[in-house]
Amino acid sequence: MPTVSTIIEEARLTAHALAEYAGGLINPTVRLGVTGLTRAGKTVFMTALVHNLLHGGRLPVFEALSSGRVARARLAPQPDDAVPRFDYEAHVQGLIDERRWPESTRNISELRLVIDYQSGRGRARSLTLDIVDYPGEWLLDLPLIEKSYAAWSAETLALSRQAPRAQLAAAWHAHLATTKPADREDEQTALAAARLFTEYLKACRDERYALSLLPPGRFLMPGDLAGSPALTFAPLKLPGEGRAPSGSLWGMMERRYDAYKDVVVRPFFHDHFARLDRQIVLVDTLATFNAGPAALRDLEGALTAILDCFRAGRRSWLSNMFRPRIDRILFAATKADHVHHVNHDRLERILGRMTERAVSRAQFAGATIDVVALAAVRATREALVARGRERLPSILGIPAAGETAGRESFDGETEAAMFPGDLPDDPEPLFSRETGVFKGLATADAGEADYRFLRFRPPAAETNPAGHPVLPHIRLDRALQFLLGDRLA
Ligand code: GDP
Repeated sequence: MPTVSTIIEEARLTAHALAEYAGGLINPTVRLGVTGLTRAGKTVFMTALVHNLLHGGRLPVFEALSSGRVARARLAPQPDDAVPRFDYEAHVQGLIDERRWPESTRNISELRLVIDYQSGRGRARSLTLDIVDYPGEWLLDLPLIEKSYAAWSAETLALSRQAPRAQLAAAWHAHLATTKPADREDEQTALAAARLFTEYLKACRDERYALSLLPPGRFLMPGDLAGSPALTFAPLKLPGEGRAPSGSLWGMMERRYDAYKDVVVRPFFHDHFARLDRQIVLVDTLATFNAGPAALRDLEGALTAILDCFRAGRRSWLSNMFRPRIDRILFAATKADHVHHVNHDRLERILGRMTERAVSRAQFAGATIDVVALAAVRATREALVARGRERLPSILGIPAAGETAGRESFDGETEAAMFPGDLPDDPEPLFSRETGVFKGLATADAGEADYRFLRFRPPAAETNPAGHPVLPHIRLDRALQFLLGDRLA
């Protein structure tokens, strides 16, 4: 039975969808979501994408542009009054003039572009492209909408007892052992539990573990809600059934969990997620390899949860009546410039295999899914470097100031060559459940990771035939062709 609030939500969504539908008839619009977990590369991707479109970057696979049908792309005023504008100009200036990476995404932001082009039949047309950049942590919150506090508590606790999470959860678990759900509600107990639970989530996110599945997202990125009751709760070890006794800690935590859904998760779903047409999910796959098999398994869990969100996002028939649902999802392994080009296809295959498994686990059907390994900004070049008699395919780049490798510390000015190692050619053994080990990537078990990737400084911009600086990239054009090609046909 739909609740009153569900009916009101549906009505609001429908009114919004109708208005957008009417607008879309006159002026075709694509809303493209750009997401990924912290430091996946969202800000860099969005900056590079817009810069390449505005200034005619080298995008041979993006047919509309390479065939000369795009007359021009221009920025237009930000359409949504309540969403911050993506600070494109500041990001470009940092990247190109100062060769430093932009400030990462901490909040949702948006940018509108209008692309004037000639259709395949030679007619002059315009496509409005709204690009919405938002933290992937928010996306991973969506499954909470349909999950009770009891179910979430049980799931979160079970996960926190697995390696390597268990050791990171020790302090929180110790506190949990001192509380009983039926204890009287108490602000100090709730504060302590929330703090220890948040510290556990933060430790999981650390690059040594690089775990992905860490809801609730705002515990890691609280924004303006820091310290509010909606963020001051934690799982409890609950009895199998029954209701929270009145005035209990259990009741208090449950109320706040529900408030989190009302204040944070549902508004995000309606105001942003349900309005997207296309989605790119950026994944720092190499950082996950670097952290080892547990991180890889965790990432697969996160991809499944993400696909579940897209399924959930399509359930509302009212909104679907007026709006084409998300019909294309691209999963992109970012920072591919950290490995030699022979590994780009391998990186793509591994993410592809992981996505396939997530698709079958999420019983996902509908949208077209593709996978690409890309570097939105290519910070390295390739060379064969002699080591003894061997010539190793290596990458050259300027490690960022303060980066270290072994005993060497870099100053941000000096170029270095490194051989980052090869990814396995066949992704299949990585997923072998019989052995229970991600073979070939057992580096974390050895205590030392092979895939130790330095942060490089952004590259010097190249110049296009019109004399404008453009940023080098890897396969950004393939991503654009998949995400927008058909809309510019
Ligand atoms: P966000 O948190 O998803 O917005 O992540 P950012 O876009 O801020 O990227 C995080 C960091 O990853 C940047 O500061 C860069 O160091 C690195 N990075 C992102 N994209 C690329 C890329 O295409 N190539 C390289 N070499 N580094 C990248």
